[in-house]
Amino acid sequence: MEALSNPHRKPLFRLITIGASGLGSFVVGLWGMKLGFGGSIAGMPSDIVGAIVAALCALAAALAALSFFAGVDESADYVFKETHFDKLTGMHARVSMIGKITEAAARTIRTGEPVFLIDIDIDRFKHINDSIGFSQGDELIRAFARRLREALPENIVVGRIGASEFAVLYPDRTDKPIDRIVEQLIETMTEPYQLRTHLQSVNLSVGIVAMPKDGTDPVLLLRRSNLALQHARASGIGNWSAFHPDMGQVADHRQWIESELHTAFLRGDFDLHYQPQLDLVKGKVVGYEALIRWIHPERGMIPPTEFVPIAEETGMILPIGKWVLKRACSDARHLPKDCFVAVNISPVQFMTKDFIATVQQVMQATGIKPERLELEVTETAMMQDRERAAAILKELAEMGISVAVDDFGTGYSNLSYLIDFSFRKLKIDRSFVSRIDTDSSTGAVVSTIVGLSRALGVDTIAEGVETENQAMLLRAAGCDVVQGYLFGKPGPLTIDQIAAASATAPRLVGHA
Ligand code: C2E
Ligand code: MG
Ligand code: MG
Repeated sequence: MEALSNPHRKPLFRLITIGASGLGSFVVGLWGMKLGFGGSIAGMPSDIVGAIVAALCALAAALAALSFFAGVDESADYVFKETHFDKLTGMHARVSMIGKITEAAARTIRTGEPVFLIDIDIDRFKHINDSIGFSQGDELIRAFARRLREALPENIVVGRIGASEFAVLYPDRTDKPIDRIVEQLIETMTEPYQLRTHLQSVNLSVGIVAMPKDGTDPVLLLRRSNLALQHARASGIGNWSAFHPDMGQVADHRQWIESELHTAFLRGDFDLHYQPQLDLVKGKVVGYEALIRWIHPERGMIPPTEFVPIAEETGMILPIGKWVLKRACSDARHLPKDCFVAVNISPVQFMTKDFIATVQQVMQATGIKPERLELEVTETAMMQDRERAAAILKELAEMGISVAVDDFGTGYSNLSYLIDFSFRKLKIDRSFVSRIDTDSSTGAVVSTIVGLSRALGVDTIAEGVETENQAMLLRAAGCDVVQGYLFGKPGPLTIDQIAAASATAPRLVGHA
């Protein structure tokens, strides 16, 4: 056993075994000859026949021993390659990365030189895979791995540790701070990928741990880098986070949400609140945005920013999103006839094969007219697969349904892509509105967005308007439709209001 496990003694051990097998068989051959098995053949004397038999026996046994060892070698090699290297990319697999992290940790302890473990994951890869198919999904991973390898210095260890998850061991040797390195890496890695049939965009989430500060145990380090990654993912698309001990608690909360969502859905915990959208020129409410609310029987209100991203990851957003659409379309009956209802559509929902069929089915079931329905889709959702998104948007436009590009300005899209898409409205993100009265360049950005919309022949709406000053500056910039706490907070449609709505517009109950 020891000889086998010691690589230096292996060749000698094998030589002895092969020699012993050959010698043993030779002796057996001679012994057989003595017992008279080697009778005369074709006139040859029996002792010559016997010697030939003995030599052949020895040769066969030695070859058998040799091929056995070759086989052992091959299968050991095979098992090693299978478990240590990822077949798709040729990179270190998870097992191998654990070994590499252990080595790096040992070095860190010895030399004191910190090493970063960077965990990189493609957002919603499962859904990308489902919509583009497995073979193109594989192509994307290969292209991603190739680019990652090229983006990093040669001596940097990198591995594929999950379906779309990669780990990088980055020693803290350069003058550049790690956040600059990671930001540059994200920038490079989120450039679109040319696949066989289309250009595929991706978003990333990145988590970082530092050795030895955040630990030296490889499994713990991987868990912590993943916690940081999850934290980055929850805080917004295209982001990164460095590990912080509080993240363990956040992870527990996320896990609780994940396990509770299904029960909550069946129990009927969800409700919709509505927020008015005002046309400042006409001086009237033109539509209402439906916003989901989760009221847990014990924990109370859980905001959508906490549970929607998790529902998207687990796929629960599909039944929840369908419920929202159905409920909002049926609630529209209680809104004034000249108002539309705006429904938020998750990128996951938007990209499913049966999205259009679901919308048609809901419209039929609720009897809502297409001009009274608006779908809010984020620009990042549209950029995931531009061709498919363009086709879906075209179908919606043909059905007479309006689409608003939600959170406009927060994505990383190239504005020229917008020309390919059929949509009716750009919804200027709250982050611009909140700075419009303090930062002069923001005003210029808003004016540019309004100008762009006009050039494209679409409308604009600004969200998150909280002050009179903001509303005034928005109007000055040419944005006439607004939504925000200044005009009404999201609130439920109450029974009284529903009754009143048959005559006039419902007043909405605002929350403090
Ligand atoms: P969103 O679609 O951009 O919605 C606007 C968010 O800004 C809402 O937060 C709204 O309550 C909040 N808001 C409105 N006016 C103001 C204001 O004046 N000041 C401030 N500070 N906030 C304002 P909410 O309801 O927490 O929703 C957050 C996000 O969750 C939404 O952003 C949307 O992305 C998502 N979401 C909400 N409901 C749904 C839904 O039914 N389906 C899906 N897929 N996502 C939803
Ligand atoms: Mg919205
Ligand atoms: Mg928004």
